[in-house]
Amino acid sequence: MTNKISRRKFLKVVAGSGVVGFGVMAAGCKGDPSGAQGWIPDQYQGKGDFPVNLKGRVAISQDNPSIERDDEKCILCGQCVEACKNVMGVYGNYPLPLKNEVACVGCGQCTIACPSGAITEKRNIQDVLAAIDDDSKHVVVQTAPATKVSLGEEFGMEPGASVGKKMVGALKEAGFDAVFDTCFSADLTIMEEASEFVHRLTKAKDEIPHLTSCCPGWVKYCEYFYPELMHNLSTCKSPQNMMGATIKSFYAEKKGIKPENIINVSIMPCTAKKFEVGREELQVDDQRDMDYVLTTRELAVLLKHKGIDLNTVAESEYDSVLGESTGAGKIFGATGGVTEAAVRTAYYFATGSNPPADLLSWQPVRGMKAVKEANATIPGVGTVNIAVCHGLENARQLLNGIKEHGSKWQFIEFMACPGGCIGGGGQPKSSVADIKQKRIAAIYKEDNSSAKRCSHDNTEIQSIYKEFYGKPLSEKAEKYLHTSFVNRHDRLF
Ligand code: SF4
Ligand code: SF4
Repeated sequence: MTNKISRRKFLKVVAGSGVVGFGVMAAGCKGDPSGAQGWIPDQYQGKGDFPVNLKGRVAISQDNPSIERDDEKCILCGQCVEACKNVMGVYGNYPLPLKNEVACVGCGQCTIACPSGAITEKRNIQDVLAAIDDDSKHVVVQTAPATKVSLGEEFGMEPGASVGKKMVGALKEAGFDAVFDTCFSADLTIMEEASEFVHRLTKAKDEIPHLTSCCPGWVKYCEYFYPELMHNLSTCKSPQNMMGATIKSFYAEKKGIKPENIINVSIMPCTAKKFEVGREELQVDDQRDMDYVLTTRELAVLLKHKGIDLNTVAESEYDSVLGESTGAGKIFGATGGVTEAAVRTAYYFATGSNPPADLLSWQPVRGMKAVKEANATIPGVGTVNIAVCHGLENARQLLNGIKEHGSKWQFIEFMACPGGCIGGGGQPKSSVADIKQKRIAAIYKEDNSSAKRCSHDNTEIQSIYKEFYGKPLSEKAEKYLHTSFVNRHDRLF
């Protein structure tokens, strides 16, 4: 028998002795103390004006695919509540007691905020190691743009160090059978989404404003809190899932591999992606697009476990067929990047020419301002009013304004996390104050130095349409590259 007493048990004892504040905090939790569904702070709706950090911690259901908590490490500081409520606009924006679901969009911002490491991503490292060791499986990995400017931090490199080619070398050394670039499928997303936007502007005006759909945290937020706007969401799958569906169809066919023998892994800056891969709507012909997601942090653990040091590993190139990318695909990792990339290609679709220089370095949509506004004049289409929003609490305020006054924008980009994917909940934790700006600067540097800046100029994208998808929004493209959404409102209200 152990005499060990956890920090939390200790606090409960203190609470029992009537110490003000801690008593309120610990006594305010009911039901299963495991941190699962029942662990809801009663005092959230109780009387009194206790500061937010005494109101408890976020509730995490045991079947949450994105995050989990080790109660032994929790110091009941309330920082997770601060992030969930004030940055993400989730905690507190639903009535208590909870109805059928613990509200969580899987963003992982609480994992970044948690000072004791109690909340982490739900790890899939062992699943991926087992897949690599299984000779009957062809294990394919893809890497998101934001991970290329952050993984180095886990290996002591300068914030914002650009390590894309080193990451590819490390993944090949780790035993993956093919390494593809999510920037490629970001280019594919732009081909589909720019076509869809131009179609909506001209022929389906009731679907304007067009809301982007590549961020799974934002999509789930919309499904929970603004289901009446779901028909405005782009039907495009995220770049991760466009890549997954393309690997298990086009690539499988080309390589003569059965889709069921392919394991698709992604390296993402994001914990909400772990929820996204399990969505029923993201299956084609009974095959899940994606199998496992590792966060940037998890990849660092996996590489260290395999004895691979990013500082010394040899650089390598992405594999062909799904490995070429343009600057437009690369800027998906920063807030405003999807918009800038989409406008570059929408301009081309409308005019047949590439956009002028100012649209290739479009300052109004760049930077960390909570809501950025811009307008682009596209010959033949007119002036398009655009908003870019990051951080879901900002989204909540913007969407409430739209509900009240209507939308003055035709296109709105939403990213759940502050700064976009570079600030994702699966990114390395950092004490550098301007870490997000440093990562963003690295992304735009990559864009500037790219030989091609527009998604439609990607030669592998041109080939895949020629050989497989035909054209954007074709029947085949709709089957593999587009999706639908689920109204989750009634689960909370
Ligand atoms: S993952 Fe995001 S939504 Fe879920 S509890 Fe954490 S901060 Fe809140
Ligand atoms: S931030 Fe971490 S340590 Fe603090 S209350 Fe939340 S889970 Fe516990």
